[in-house]
Amino acid sequence: MPRLGVLGWPVAHSRSPAMHNAALRALGMEGWRYQLLPVPPERLAEAVRALPGAGFVGANVTIPHKQAALALADTASEAARAIGAANTLTFGPGAQVAAENTDAPGFLDALGVSPRGMSAQVLGAGGSARAVVWALREAGAREVSVWNRTPERAAALAGELGVRAVPRPAPADLLVNCTSVGLESEGEELKQSATEPHGLNLLELTFDQVGSYAHVVDLVYRRTPTPLLAAARAHGVHTVEGLEVLLAQGALSFELWTGVQPPLAVMRDALRD
Ligand code: NAP
Repeated sequence: MPRLGVLGWPVAHSRSPAMHNAALRALGMEGWRYQLLPVPPERLAEAVRALPGAGFVGANVTIPHKQAALALADTASEAARAIGAANTLTFGPGAQVAAENTDAPGFLDALGVSPRGMSAQVLGAGGSARAVVWALREAGAREVSVWNRTPERAAALAGELGVRAVPRPAPADLLVNCTSVGLESEGEELKQSATEPHGLNLLELTFDQVGSYAHVVDLVYRRTPTPLLAAARAHGVHTVEGLEVLLAQGALSFELWTGVQPPLAVMRDALRD
């Protein structure tokens, strides 16, 4: 039975099994199964080496293993190496481990418009910000600016990837939130009028400023719109939610492992369920 899974610690919250198993079922890939693989950091190398022998064709990798997964792979794509992290492992003949990063092309797919020639403001300097900055640069964005709560991290990321760090979010065509701001107010819909300004303040944005961007992407995924997406929609700005980015990276991983184009609508429904 070909197996797939997601390595993380903790990983119980992951929506990936629901999304991938729905796709496998819809395609009639009866013997296939995608499962949670809760593995602590000190056991990651051992677990990855054991997976091919246990029937695994590939695995996604999530927090906190993305950098370690790249380091222990036998081969890695240019994207994974440049970003410094892998979210997808594929097991080849002789249990060879190949590392890929589908977060970057997944972000571009979900964006739905080409960022070529656009200016972009990225918020955050963690793992997802690295993938997004690299993707935007490779896709021909005219100028990419990085803002982060801890400015030293923005400066380090900008220096490494050849973009600029800014002391506060700057005007641009595209705004991408790669921080975890917005996660914390999930479930507080009743207090939305109070939490919205707070969520924007944490990103050093005002409600009016959000309306100045043509496109707003929020990588945070939750059931209700994040404060940032709610503000952007109120201004009629084109928005992309985190669930769409999750879907797009998952679809690319699925195709890499199976060679089959996945049913996006089925996967989207499973994510929203
Ligand atoms: P990470 O490496 O831990 O980075 C977290 C970032 O959030 C840092 O820039 C951090 O700033 C910032 N931050 C955290 N709390 C903050 C606050 N209260 N105010 C301002 N900034 C704050 O995380 P990551 O892997 O990049 O993920 C970031 C978010 O994107 C998470 O919510 C994750 O679930 C989501 N994500 C979604 C997808 C998707 O497919 N949709 C993919 C990847 C990640 P400091 O440097 O100052 O700490």
